[in-house]
Amino acid sequence: MIDTAALRRAFLDVYGAAEQTPRLFRAPGRVNLIGEHTDYNDGFVLPMAIDRETCVAAAARADRRVRVFSLNLGEHAEFDLDRPGMRERGIWLDYVEGVAQALERRGVRLGGADLVISSDVPVGGGLSSSAALEVSAGLALASVAGVEVDRVELALAGQEAEHTYVGAKVGIMDQFIVALGRAGHALLIDCRTLETQAIPVDTTETLVVICDTRVKHELSASEYNLRRAECEEGVELLRREGLANIRALRDVSEADFERYGHVLPEVVGRRCRHVVTENARTLDAAAALRERRLEEMGRLMLASHESLRQDYEVSCRELDVLVEIATSLAGATLGARMTGGGFGGCTVNLVRRDRLEDFRETITRGYTGATGLTPNIYVSEAGEGAKEINDEV
Ligand code: ADP
Ligand code: MG
Repeated sequence: MIDTAALRRAFLDVYGAAEQTPRLFRAPGRVNLIGEHTDYNDGFVLPMAIDRETCVAAAARADRRVRVFSLNLGEHAEFDLDRPGMRERGIWLDYVEGVAQALERRGVRLGGADLVISSDVPVGGGLSSSAALEVSAGLALASVAGVEVDRVELALAGQEAEHTYVGAKVGIMDQFIVALGRAGHALLIDCRTLETQAIPVDTTETLVVICDTRVKHELSASEYNLRRAECEEGVELLRREGLANIRALRDVSEADFERYGHVLPEVVGRRCRHVVTENARTLDAAAALRERRLEEMGRLMLASHESLRQDYEVSCRELDVLVEIATSLAGATLGARMTGGGFGGCTVNLVRRDRLEDFRETITRGYTGATGLTPNIYVSEAGEGAKEINDEV
């Protein structure tokens, strides 16, 4: 949780007392329970918003300048809505300017604004601080311009910011859950139709525990784009070899894959097998979670990790170590898997509430012993999506 009184004070410090009183907006980070690397294959994902968030204090300006200060980085930046800056500069302003330009392109007329940003989502840690930044800043800019922005539109604008300004061809999962998350629920999202089903995440007996490796390997961006290309190649080949009507791997059933998968080159075949089986696991997991068959949910999470490790090859030693230690605690951990794009970042675990301390100690001791790094461990309820904060009494 961000201290909103401190954020208001920071706004006054940065822009001076002559400024109008800012309005406050927030968007959460997220964790994906299952359904990894399926979103850009038109498939299914099952993420939830977490209780860490990015907050934006914002006041309108009379001109078309947007000034931004990040409390996390202690850095000022600014842009002009009428003079778009260079793209893919590799700086944090890409996310803010990117979402502003995407909103305007989608017909949301913005005005200038002064913003202060503060976040307790670990930056670059795989819990989607980038989507939290895009969505909270987009919501703030639209709102102070007097526009009520549709949450799906806001999510799409955030994704567009990553595609155009940041240069990352991400799927829709992160921005969607961050914009539309529902307290106490994970969302089963159909990434083709954007239809959702809210699934209760009951935490009376088990908790969702996130373990952060504290590493991010350089490979992640280039390998991500490579995986996308391999999936597209798979679709092309499968289409030519008999599955004429498929548009994406989402359209390939496990039975189809058994029948036609052999036509694919070895590596592309493994990538496709991951996506096809992961879609099936995600639908099964949503049903298991809804019916509180948590042991089954845990088994599916472990199978997801194995598939990401062996077939999709996006795990890394640190993630595997965390999953191994977690699963060695039989009776405490129901499921464990890497979450997010991979090559570092976090694992997500389903842990019995009464074994939490045991889990924490074992993970910390084991991970530090194996890597020399101290993991960060967060327990999170399923939180709400982006909204304005009304903190005034
Ligand atoms: P993740 O989304 O997993 O946290 P990304 O690499 O996608 O990791 O996004 C992290 C980037 O987002 C940072 O390098 C920074 O440019 C930007 N960012 C996120 N939160 C903030 C913040 N509070 N202030 C400034 N920049 C931020
Ligand atoms: Mg990100």
